[in-house]
Amino acid sequence: MSLRTAVKTLRLFRFKTCLSRNLLYSRSLCTGQEAKQDDVGFYDVTIAGGGMVGTAMACALGSHPMFEGKKVLLLEASPARIISDQLPENYSNRVCSLNPGTVEFLKDIGAWQYITKMRVNSYKRMQVWDSCSNALITFDRENLSKKIGHIVENDVTVIGLTKVLDLLKGNRVDLKYSAKATHVELPVPGEGFSNPFVKVFLEDGEEIHTQLLVAADGPNSSIRKMANMNHIVWSYDQSAVVATLQLTEATDNNVAWQRFLPTGPIAMLPLSETHSSLVWSTSHDDAKKLLLMPEDQFIDAVNNAFWQDSEKHPVVESAGKWLENALSVLMPSSGGSSVRQLPPSVIAVDNESRAMFPLSLGHTPHYVKPRLALIGDAAHRVHPLAGLGVNLGFGDVACLRDTLIEAVQNGEDLGALPRLLEYETKRQQHIVPIMATIDALKRLFSTDAMPVVLARSLGLQTTNALKPVKDFFVQRASL
Ligand SMILES: Cc1cc2nc3c(=O)[nH]c(=O)nc-3n(C[C@H](O)[C@H](O)[C@H](O)COP(=O)(O)OP(=O)(O)OC[C@H]3O[C@@H](n4cnc5c(N)ncnc54)[C@H](O)[C@@H]3O)c2cc1C
Repeated sequence: MSLRTAVKTLRLFRFKTCLSRNLLYSRSLCTGQEAKQDDVGFYDVTIAGGGMVGTAMACALGSHPMFEGKKVLLLEASPARIISDQLPENYSNRVCSLNPGTVEFLKDIGAWQYITKMRVNSYKRMQVWDSCSNALITFDRENLSKKIGHIVENDVTVIGLTKVLDLLKGNRVDLKYSAKATHVELPVPGEGFSNPFVKVFLEDGEEIHTQLLVAADGPNSSIRKMANMNHIVWSYDQSAVVATLQLTEATDNNVAWQRFLPTGPIAMLPLSETHSSLVWSTSHDDAKKLLLMPEDQFIDAVNNAFWQDSEKHPVVESAGKWLENALSVLMPSSGGSSVRQLPPSVIAVDNESRAMFPLSLGHTPHYVKPRLALIGDAAHRVHPLAGLGVNLGFGDVACLRDTLIEAVQNGEDLGALPRLLEYETKRQQHIVPIMATIDALKRLFSTDAMPVVLARSLGLQTTNALKPVKDFFVQRASL
C-alpha cells in the first residue's frame, strides 16, 4: 500500500470511529453527576509522567495566561530530582538532538534560557552516508552561523523545564514525585456513573479527580493499558548502544554524523570540542557484545564502523559516478555531490557510559478518549535514526496546549471528546507519514542486496542534489 493510500485509509477509518465515539460521549455527559471542582484532590488537568514531554506539558499549561485560575498536577513515579546548576562533570549517555522547532517551543515556555545556561552543543551540518556505496547526503545551512540542531542531555532538558515549574509551583502547578499512578477510572460512557471526572489512584492510596488526564508515561504507558487503548508495536530486533566518546583531538565538532551499515545505523552527535555521544543501532547480540568487550576493542569497533567500507558492488559504483556527472551537467549550481568530510576518530570511552536500549516502532491508533489524551512516547515511538522521537513529543505538547486554550476561550469542558479529537487529527496527520518514512528508511538501509543498494544510493544522490527536496524534509521533520 502506498503512503498516500495508507494516510487516506487512516482518515476514513478515523472519521467513522470519531462519529461513534462522539455519540457515546454525548450520552455519557448527560448521565453523570457533577463532581465538586473545589474538592481537595481535584485538578483541571493531571499529567501522569514527568519525563521531558510530561514536564513540558505542565510548563506549557501552567505558564499560559489563559490557564490562570486553573489547577494543573504533574505526577512523576521516580523520586524528586536534585535541581542544581552544578552538573556532573561527565556527560550523561542519554542525549537528544533537538530541532529548531523544539528550540522555539522551549523558548516560548521559558525553559531554553535555563537549558543553555547548563550544557548545550549546537551543530551546523549533518552528514549521512552509506557504507555499501559512495552515496551521501548532507544537510547544512547556507549561512553557517545558523544551527541545524542542538544536542542536549535528557537530564539537562528536564532540569531546565523543572526550573520553570518551580516558579509556577504551589500557585498554578502542583508537582508530586514518587507518585506512581497505579489505577485509573475513566467515566464509562452510557452506563451512568457517580463521578463524571477521571479518578487517578496513586501507589500510596491517594485519590485524585481530574477533568482531563494526560498520559506522558512513556512507551510502556500503564495509563494506556489501563484505558484499554489499542497499541501497535513492531520490534525492530535491534538495540541501540549508547556511550560517551572522547575524540582523538579537539576539533570544532559541529557536525552530526550518521553512517548506514547493513546491520543498522551508527551516529556520532557532537557534545563539545572533545566529546561526542554514540547511538549505534545493531542486533541485540551484537549490542550485548559491544557492551561487554574491553574498552580498546570497543573503540576499534566504533572507529571501524565509521571508517571501514563494506564491500562495494562495481555496478553501484559506476552508476553512482554516472549520476554524479549527469547531475553536475544538468544542475551545475546544485553541486551534484556534496563535499565529503571525514568523521573524527575516537580514542576513549567514558567510564560506565555504555548502555543498550531495545528498539521498536509503537503507535496508538487513537491518542484520545473522553477525558484522556496521550502524548509523547506513550502515543508513538520511532526508531532513533532520524532523531525525532522527543521532537514529535514536544509537538504534541504544543498542539494539545493550543487545543485546550481554545476550549478555555470557549468555556468548554477540557475533557470533551470533540475538542480532543482535533488534537488527535492534527498530530496524526503530521506523525503518521513521518513514522512511515522513518520505518521505510530503516528497512531500505538494512540490506546489502545489490538492487536495493543501487536504488537507495541513486535516490540519496539525487535528493542530495535537489535543495528544495532537502529543505522540504528538514521542514517536515520540525515539530
Ligand atoms: C538511544 C535513543 C536515542 C534517542 N535520540 C533521540 C534524538 O536524538 N532526538 C529525539 O527527538 N528523540 C530521541 N530519542 C527518543 C526520546 O528519547 C524519547 O522520545 C523521549 O525520551 C520520550 O519522552 P517521554 O517523556 O514521552 O517518555 P519517557 O522519557 O519514557 O518518560 C516517561 C516518564 O513517566 C514516568 N512514569 C511512568 N509510569 C508512570 C506512572 N504510572 N505514573 C507516573 N509517572 C510514570 C517515568 O518515570 C518517566 O519519567 C532517542 C531514544 C533512544 C532510545
